[in-house]
Amino acid sequence: MENTRHSVETQDINKSTFNRRDMLKAGSLALGGLALGGLLTPANAASKPFKLPSRSNPLLLNFNESAYGYSSLVTRNLTKEFDNLSRYPIKAEEELKVAVAKFYGIKDDRVNITNGSSAALQSSIYAVNAFAQEQNVSLRVIVADPTFEFVESYAKPLGAEIIKVPVDSKFNINTDRMKTLEREFDGVSLVYICNPNNPTGNIINPNELYSWIKSAKSTTIFLIDEAYAEYITSTSFKSAIDTLREGVKNVIVARTFSKVYGLAALRIGYTISSPEWQKRIADFVELVGINLLGARAAAISLSDFAFRQYVVNTNNKSRQILTKALDSLELKYSPSYGNFVFHEITGDFDDFSKNMQNQNILVGRKFDKFDNFCRVTLGTPDEMQHYVKVLRNFRAKRLI
Ligand code: PLP
Repeated sequence: MENTRHSVETQDINKSTFNRRDMLKAGSLALGGLALGGLLTPANAASKPFKLPSRSNPLLLNFNESAYGYSSLVTRNLTKEFDNLSRYPIKAEEELKVAVAKFYGIKDDRVNITNGSSAALQSSIYAVNAFAQEQNVSLRVIVADPTFEFVESYAKPLGAEIIKVPVDSKFNINTDRMKTLEREFDGVSLVYICNPNNPTGNIINPNELYSWIKSAKSTTIFLIDEAYAEYITSTSFKSAIDTLREGVKNVIVARTFSKVYGLAALRIGYTISSPEWQKRIADFVELVGINLLGARAAAISLSDFAFRQYVVNTNNKSRQILTKALDSLELKYSPSYGNFVFHEITGDFDDFSKNMQNQNILVGRKFDKFDNFCRVTLGTPDEMQHYVKVLRNFRAKRLI
């Protein structure tokens, strides 16, 4: 496998989806946030000083969670919602839906709010399965290998055929093979693309993806998981939300407040699709399935552009610390655009993971066919300096 290197190309956020107009909008929303009583200081957890990890307080680099907590606007404004805990969160859900639609400059008949993006993926798969049932045909699910496995988990009990297509030697998704599998099939195909991909962290060539989407069969639906898209600062990325704006119908996008917004515990995600698919998905979204605090925290977070920018920029610094060290240790890694890096460890993952655990560091799990690779979540720059120090010690002991 070739050593593919990545350099951070720009400090701008999501150039393709987040243009100057959006920035102005976000700025005014942020000012709205100020009116809510918050200041645009970047963060909570981020400002905590680094402490050496211990057995009772290990360094959590295992679940691709944010190292930076959440917006201080959330801290300042959420407690007043405690007065409403005896009420159902129907209005809050509706308001969040409107806020998400406004954020992207689309109508709210394209948005479904879900209990984390896990539920966004689940309800989308169920909707596509129902679409296949209506036509009395079977469902084929086409995914990359490796990729985020929830889609496979949700599709399996439905009796769908699942085809895993290995990534190439540079970790790129094999769109040619996936295309063949979709074209040759008579039933309904669900193509799942995780962009950036988890665990590899790389992004798909937008020309390749969107020309495929536009030329695919009308019975092929693309589920694009953009859980980590907010971290991307490269102009080579194009969000599938843009293609929906251009009128494409066979695309469902899943996004989340769990990653860059740091609200994983509050479980808020969403789908964006055509209005027709929004309705189909809504049939499978749990009724009143989200919680009040999550809905309010998510809406508040959307308005804090400064916090989001802080997280993205600091995540870039952490990535640079790690990739520089990996280069000097001559360990290969996939080009990463998210808040994690998939890197070589030379030996077996289980041994590496155990050795890291002995250093009170938890890293991501083992991936089939990539025994000698580790997916590590990017912590704060101080945390990554520590991780790099441990890697260097491992090298001195010939453990990697
Ligand atoms: N999609 C991807 C690619 C993920 O990595 C994750 C979680 O790690 C999710 C979706 C689900 O996240 P959540 O349900 O917290 O939104």
